Amino acid sequence: MDNCIFCQIVAGDIPSRTVYEDDDVLAFLDVNPLAPGHTLVIPKDHHETLTELPEDEGDAVFSALHRLAPAVEVAVDAPASTVAFNNGEAAGQEVPHVHGHIVPRFDDDGGRPIHALVSDQPELHDDELDDIAAAIAEER
Ligand SMILES: [Zn+2]
Repeated sequence: MDNCIFCQIVAGDIPSRTVYEDDDVLAFLDVNPLAPGHTLVIPKDHHETLTELPEDEGDAVFSALHRLAPAVEVAVDAPASTVAFNNGEAAGQEVPHVHGHIVPRFDDDGGRPIHALVSDQPELHDDELDDIAAAIAEER
């Protein structure tokens, strides 16, 4: 995709601080880091969301995340990290090319856990939860 900033990084048309590369995956420092070492892991092929990402490329992305998260933590002396995807525009995805974030976390960083993503948590009853679980199991 010519107008995709991440495809331009993959093509070498835009410079990046690359930390990992293989046939399917590229990882580089986020230009707008939330913490020192904030790293993005992307498939080299253009896919907008995890829904469009073929399973084998998803495997490659996860393998890279799995290998890189501890490397990032060691490199910046972080005791933990948040590993996450903004999957789709409504979730806050700004670049429409799948990317996983590795954000190093520190005890006093003021950051929040995944369970603080929304301010209004829904109250779901047992029958609703049963229906949702069944619907997911049917779709997958
Ligand atoms: Zn792209």
